[in-house]
Amino acid sequence: MTATDSATALTVAALPARGVGDLLSRRISDLQSSAIRDLLAVTSRPEILSLAGGLPDESAMPARWLADTAAEVMTAPGALQYSTTEGHQGLRAVIAQWETAWRGRYVGPDEVIVNTGSQQALDLLGKVLLDPGDDVVVEDPAYVGALQSFALADVRLAAIPQDAAGMRTDLLEQALRAGLRPKFVYLTPTFHNPAGSTLADDRRRHVAALADEFGFLVVEDDAYRELSFDGSAPAPIAAYTDRVVRLGTFSKILAPGLRVGWMTGPVEVLAAAAKAKQATDLHTSTLAQLMLHRAAAETDRLAVHVAGVRRLYAGRAGHLVTALQQTFGDAVEVNSPAGGMFAWARFTDGTDTTPLLQRALAEGVAFVPGPAFSTTGGNRDSARFCFASVPEDRLDEAVARLARAHAG
Ligand code: PMP
Repeated sequence: MTATDSATALTVAALPARGVGDLLSRRISDLQSSAIRDLLAVTSRPEILSLAGGLPDESAMPARWLADTAAEVMTAPGALQYSTTEGHQGLRAVIAQWETAWRGRYVGPDEVIVNTGSQQALDLLGKVLLDPGDDVVVEDPAYVGALQSFALADVRLAAIPQDAAGMRTDLLEQALRAGLRPKFVYLTPTFHNPAGSTLADDRRRHVAALADEFGFLVVEDDAYRELSFDGSAPAPIAAYTDRVVRLGTFSKILAPGLRVGWMTGPVEVLAAAAKAKQATDLHTSTLAQLMLHRAAAETDRLAVHVAGVRRLYAGRAGHLVTALQQTFGDAVEVNSPAGGMFAWARFTDGTDTTPLLQRALAEGVAFVPGPAFSTTGGNRDSARFCFASVPEDRLDEAVARLARAHAG
């Protein structure tokens, strides 16, 4: 070591060492951890009946069938190899056929890119559409994963209230006429997480017309579309305008652990998202895509499977709503979801659901308090209940425990 080297070493050593925490970016330090994912750590205790996590039922995941598809495709050429960023061509073609049927206009395979879950699509949209300080419109209440994703992009979130028919598009129009200029409006129009609501047809047309007039994009997150209890779902917003990026996922109909979703939309957005995806993960799991391509080709078997999931969830939803109504009477207003995995309840007696959760955990039941889904800590008197993975007799017990917590 020369004299100069040792002098430099001494100078460096004399600087106070920064703690590792100080090395984190401002972006991530400012980000709130998801209250729900934090809650999951508590609710995994066996004595807790959890209606908190948004987990599909394990029996709604056809493990044997997927194991067979995995065994079949594993030795196919390329199954274990890197693959294209936009996704497996055959899988894109299957998704394009579904989207064509839903939208009522031809959607080609090139208008689809496969994502690592629809959550990745939210992240990519943040990267390709948002600059710090941009305005984004969300629903109140809104899907927490989207709020988190957009918060990372350092934007201003404007929350538009919902009622039983979804986002109040009249209030959206008012905000736009008053000068709000969002890059996009994010909605989960069908069988909402957390609100259980479905956006009415006239509001779908309204938001589409506003997108055309004011020149913003609609991000239509249709994760729950296939979980309709009576098998029907309204035409998507994308049926009324092309200014829509639609997100879909295999998570709710086959298996969330495979992490496969998709995005369709204007070519400019897709090309930019594909570029961002190159930098993010190169591509979605080749093996998972091949498995789902194989499974989706068995159309009858898939239809029977999805019909079974719908029946399972329809039964549980009805059971939970009835139990809440019978137990709480007028003290709770609960929606009756027409599909999906969530019921949203408001305590008309003004119960604050955050302290209620603490008492509920002591009684052995968990749910997610309303403020978790709000940009402003609102919805204090409301809560989300996920009925998807709780059998009916356990739902009765969960509501009985909730009633004890409410009374206590
Ligand atoms: N959007 C909504 C509305 C969701 O509820 C979820 C899952 N909780 C996602 C997107 C993400 O789903 P995935 O990444 O598994 O496709």
